[in-house]
Amino acid sequence: MAEIGTDIEKAARLLRQGKLVAIPTETVYGLAGNAFNEEAVLKIFETKNRPQFDPLIVHSSGIEWIKEHVAEIPSLARTLMDEFWPGPMTLVLPKKPIVPDLVTSGLDNVAVRVPSHPLTQELLRSLNFPLAAPSANPFGYVSPTTAQHVEDQLGEKIDYILDGGPTTVGLESTIIGFEEGKPIIYRLGGLSVDVIEDLIGPVEVTLNQSSDPKAPGMLKSHYAPGKPLYFGNPGEMIHEFEGKRIGFLGFMTRLEFLPPDRQLLLSPHGDLHEAAVNLFAFMREFDKFPVDLILAERLPEIGLGRAINDRLRRAAVNS
Ligand code: AMP
Ligand code: MG
Repeated sequence: MAEIGTDIEKAARLLRQGKLVAIPTETVYGLAGNAFNEEAVLKIFETKNRPQFDPLIVHSSGIEWIKEHVAEIPSLARTLMDEFWPGPMTLVLPKKPIVPDLVTSGLDNVAVRVPSHPLTQELLRSLNFPLAAPSANPFGYVSPTTAQHVEDQLGEKIDYILDGGPTTVGLESTIIGFEEGKPIIYRLGGLSVDVIEDLIGPVEVTLNQSSDPKAPGMLKSHYAPGKPLYFGNPGEMIHEFEGKRIGFLGFMTRLEFLPPDRQLLLSPHGDLHEAAVNLFAFMREFDKFPVDLILAERLPEIGLGRAINDRLRRAAVNS
């Protein structure tokens, strides 16, 4: 069992010793280690059972710090940083040699982010190194949005979980890279495309579905809950599962033909932000429900709905 608490000093001490600490961010909980300490970074991969070809995001307290490990900041990146940091946006930029190759899986670019969660901000400011931190879950499983989620899956393997309450965004960060000066979204996430486009105009979205090292967070089968999840139109899919106990993960409205106690609605008022906050916790809830499988409904393809549908599609066995 890991200790769960709010002791920033203790978290900092462990991190300075090269140990791992689970940290709250506004997106999901992260499994953090000193990004400049190769042994600590290696422990992150081992603890998560994450393949080393899947690079890590480096978290810092502010733009001043980013300059320490990024070789060049294009002006468009600077515009995005000024507007959306601290917040759920990750930028992929050319790295300085100080960033170990293990962090970037040998790529010349490093993914960087300034998280907004107050506890983690304070922690980062008390350290003289940035934190490499992927989501604090075993590789391939649903990301944790509470300290208890982390404890349930990684509690045996880590010393301390910094408890910052349930996360307020609930989806991983939106990842943006630059190719020949053009911004490209590699992963949909907690900052929606329309908000980005309002600032910088049309942006290409290239969601990789393979094991391309550029975006393994995009691996096709990812974010999987304990029960098989089917994504699409529940009314059409239901006929395939006669005799099975079906759970329903819906957006606003229950299905009349299923028992109400096997259904969870992401946002009865139709608020996509609320749906994002609930998504991963609800996917886990079905682990405890007496159901054989989960039917998940497609949400409207607008705002955060796009990122939510992306996660459901990747969690699904039928897509
Ligand atoms: P996670 O930390 O689990 O949210 O996943 C981090 C994701 O960020 C990876 O799976 C990649 O998709 C992306 N990423 C991290 N570093 C890089 C990089 N250097 N270049 C491109 N994508 C990256
Ligand atoms: Mg992850």
